[in-house]
Amino acid sequence: MTDAPNPRIAIIGAGPGGLCMAKRLIDEGYDDFVLLERNGGVGGTWYQNRYPGCECDVQSALYSFSFEFKPDWSKPYGRQPEILAYMEHIAEKYGILPHCRFGAEVTRAVWDDDRAVWTLTLGTGETVEAEVVVSALGMFNDLAYPDIPGLDTFRGTQFHSARWDWDHDLTGERVAVIGSAASAVQFVPEIVKTAGQVHLFQRTANWVLPKPDAPYTDEQLEAFRRDPTPLLAFRAEIESSMNKGMTFADPQQNAEREVAGLAAIDLVEDPDVRARLRPTHPFGCKRPLFANTYYPAFNRPNLELVTEAIERITEDAVVTVDGAVRTVDTIVLATGFAATKYLSAIDVVGRDGLRIDDAWNDGAQAYLGITTAGFPNLFMCYGPNTNNGSILTMIESQVEHVLLHLERMRSGEVAWVDVKPSVQARYNDEVQAAIAGVNVWQADCHGYYRSESGRIVTQWPFSMIEFDERTRALDPDAFVVGAR
Ligand SMILES: Cc1cc2nc3c(=O)[nH]c(=O)nc-3n(C[C@H](O)[C@H](O)[C@H](O)COP(=O)(O)OP(=O)(O)OC[C@H]3O[C@@H](n4cnc5c(N)ncnc54)[C@H](O)[C@@H]3O)c2cc1C
Repeated sequence: MTDAPNPRIAIIGAGPGGLCMAKRLIDEGYDDFVLLERNGGVGGTWYQNRYPGCECDVQSALYSFSFEFKPDWSKPYGRQPEILAYMEHIAEKYGILPHCRFGAEVTRAVWDDDRAVWTLTLGTGETVEAEVVVSALGMFNDLAYPDIPGLDTFRGTQFHSARWDWDHDLTGERVAVIGSAASAVQFVPEIVKTAGQVHLFQRTANWVLPKPDAPYTDEQLEAFRRDPTPLLAFRAEIESSMNKGMTFADPQQNAEREVAGLAAIDLVEDPDVRARLRPTHPFGCKRPLFANTYYPAFNRPNLELVTEAIERITEDAVVTVDGAVRTVDTIVLATGFAATKYLSAIDVVGRDGLRIDDAWNDGAQAYLGITTAGFPNLFMCYGPNTNNGSILTMIESQVEHVLLHLERMRSGEVAWVDVKPSVQARYNDEVQAAIAGVNVWQADCHGYYRSESGRIVTQWPFSMIEFDERTRALDPDAFVVGAR
């Protein structure tokens, strides 16, 4: 066996996943790679979501890469501008920017069985060839729009919260916010400060827990810069507590969190509003939300909670099923993302012409969330069933696993790898059995975890440590391989 030339590698997406992969490729001496990013810059989620109040809900001491510790987050849960700046800093510091091609949307990826090469087609029609593709296109890029009659007839301003229109001033306006989940709980308390009247249309009441988030003082920041030990200890502490609590399998812990959630709702003075904010699903059924300013915002006279379903939208108003008409100047759609598509967001064709849509007609699935049968040398970061805990921690495990495959290619041992369908099926059966054992995930709560087939395709049902342990080694028998 002789050393093979480094494979050409194409990474799709320059969010945290793409940046982490790129950084580690550079460390390991893989220089022939390109990051294809459809946006105009790096950062992914944190480049795109710029709504007022946008911030992390995992403490930044953990929502940061192990290779780039930052001692001076302005507060425990970093704000979007500083998370974006952190990602930009990584791209610059580790020499990733020269590998980036911005405005490069990948629309198609086709595997050539004979040449063992992927051809990626960009929106411009241009093509890029690579022996290896790493998909780091994230879960939260395809925006979900509500199917409400008349939405397209609205004559005022309208935008999705993930594409905030900062050129539009909401001061003094009548604003309808449709959706009351992760983004809304962060931006509603901000916009009520200046808007004339905000009507918040809620379909499902969510659990919103308080978080210890007082900004660090200058003295604390100076001390962390001098000696980051306490912050590193905090990182370890959060990781350990998340590892214990992330599966929502402990009824006692879930009950304690419900108590904390109900106590937070008690901050709302109006008993009728309080009652309608009370979730009807168990804690953990959907992604838990954390915010200190959400419930107190309902004590302002200019925030109305609307729980009647929307019947239609007219050119200047939102009409609910009870016949009430609320005239508004702006509609903000806080309706989230189509999170379960994964790679099938683009047209991917693997071995023997297998299309990803057909391979995944029962919903996305992959072995370790990283490889999916029939698609050789295609690796995923933040792939199916890897969502839980701090995503950056999960991404680091996936990236290290991809490097194990690349090492086999570089050593000349293999030219391509493709996970065996039986291995993938066994793995997914085990993951789905564990998911079935998480009671709170079986409730009906309109979350984003389920694919159209009803299968939960997003969640990792074990701890982050367990994911790291499972991905740390590579089982050569799990793969069909092609020789050089
Ligand atoms: C508002 C919000 C808050 C969040 N808060 C947290 C949190 O507190 N903790 C946590 O762990 N996670 C959080 N997440 C999840 C977050 O998405 C991940 O933590 C992380 O950003 C995933 O990184 P990624 O690189 O896999 O995906 P992304 O950050 O989504 O980046 C993917 C990149 O791929 C690009 N791309 C997509 N399709 C194509 C294509 N076809 N061609 C070229 N480029 C493409 C996108 O433009 C994007 O830049 C949050 C998500 C949102 C939306």
